Amino acid sequence: MRHIAVIGSGPAGYYTAEACQKLFGDQVRVDIIDRLPVPYGLIRTGVAPDHQSIKGVSRRYEAVALTDNVRFVGNVSVGRDVSIEELRRLYDAVVLATGAPLDRPLDIPGADLPGVVGSAAFVGWYNGHPDFAGLGPALDGPGAVVIGNGNVALDVARILAKTEAEFDGSDIVTHALTCLRASHITTITLLGRRGPHQIAMTPKELGELGHLTRAQPIVDARDLPPEGDDALLEPGQRKSVMHLRDFATRAADAGKAVKVVFDFFAMPVAIEGDGRAERIIVEKTRLEPNGAAVGTGETYAIPASLIVSCIGYRTPPIEGIPYDDRAGRFANDEGRVLPGLYAVGWARRGPTGTIGTNRPDGIAITERIAEDIGEGAGKAGRPGLDALLESRGVEVVTFRDWQKIEAAENAAAREGSPREKFTSIEAMLGARGA
Ligand code: NAP
Repeated sequence: MRHIAVIGSGPAGYYTAEACQKLFGDQVRVDIIDRLPVPYGLIRTGVAPDHQSIKGVSRRYEAVALTDNVRFVGNVSVGRDVSIEELRRLYDAVVLATGAPLDRPLDIPGADLPGVVGSAAFVGWYNGHPDFAGLGPALDGPGAVVIGNGNVALDVARILAKTEAEFDGSDIVTHALTCLRASHITTITLLGRRGPHQIAMTPKELGELGHLTRAQPIVDARDLPPEGDDALLEPGQRKSVMHLRDFATRAADAGKAVKVVFDFFAMPVAIEGDGRAERIIVEKTRLEPNGAAVGTGETYAIPASLIVSCIGYRTPPIEGIPYDDRAGRFANDEGRVLPGLYAVGWARRGPTGTIGTNRPDGIAITERIAEDIGEGAGKAGRPGLDALLESRGVEVVTFRDWQKIEAAENAAAREGSPREKFTSIEAMLGARGA
């Protein structure tokens, strides 16, 4: 029997468990450990609440979780309740599927002013992550700036731009909906330090911005490279740029009160304000032949009371585990970190790719594990972990418990919404008895 512990119950964790089931059949026991009492990681707290079809993949993870050889071990914090070293003693393989929940730091003066938030916090807030439920972002407007030209920046801009009716069918938490309903924001500036050809936005997601009820995307045609240059782009990127070209041709729509302005070749250099963010200073850039943005010395200010930095993520280091500080993830050789210790998903490769990218990643790490551990070394596995956690008085949340929490969330949903998420750990734990 092979005993495998996976730390983190997001896509990387569940695809690894699924791959273990396929490869090892009955001869494996996988424990998926999560510090929250609820599973699915980024599917629950990262994917935008108005993208329910993407969240549907959790049904596939549920099918994995409901088998005998995979177990969800929720409400267990590795580092507090059990150490990595203890897990390595108990299991043949320990897989770090911890994602990249920290924001890459915005290293400019004024980044610590109230009103400046990272995307992890902002996205966590509208998605009901217990760590960020109390964020209370400054929506007293009229200006908001979203730094970055990736899909997360796009999510944040879209959520700020939508009307209440446009959240029908979503599972945005009520505290965020209430705040957004009272928002005074009328200009959302998307700040890209490079140009239209360098955006990291996928076409479907970018196209959505062109169909919002009260918001109009604005692109300055002068920022666009000559149309013939689009032929040099790979097809997906070309489609994204086509959306920008379409936005640039649209006449100002007086009926749309909210503007989503693409400000290209604009690098943030400072945030200023009297006790809170009031404006961001940006420097115009030009592109070097290698594609890097360099400042031109020309600066200007954009008024903003809310500044959301969406410039990528980092995996938090763990003491004693090799870490690649430059890349912001665990140092690894194709997922191998130390003997018996592996990394998968964003913790292995950094914050790139879609949910589906984690599936081949999970398969690949399972193959490495198979090569390394043979048929297992007769380790204690599940019963060993249970005994340790019990001796420490840790209150474990099982998958059956989660199903009760889920049923309570579904029952509490607003009309038309699939669920109303609990936003505190206490409320989640309390719902197990429901
Ligand atoms: P991302 O795709 O890496 O985009 C980060 C953006 O931040 C880039 O435009 C980057 O510009 C910019 N940036 C980085 N450092 C900066 C700085 N110091 N100043 C100004 N701009 C800076 O990251 P992400 O948006 O966080 O997304 C993470 C992953 O999740 C991506 O693979 C994304 O596609 C995926 N995701 C997908 C969806 C979806 O499919 N619906 C939704 C959300 C996220 P440069 O290019 O110049 O570095």
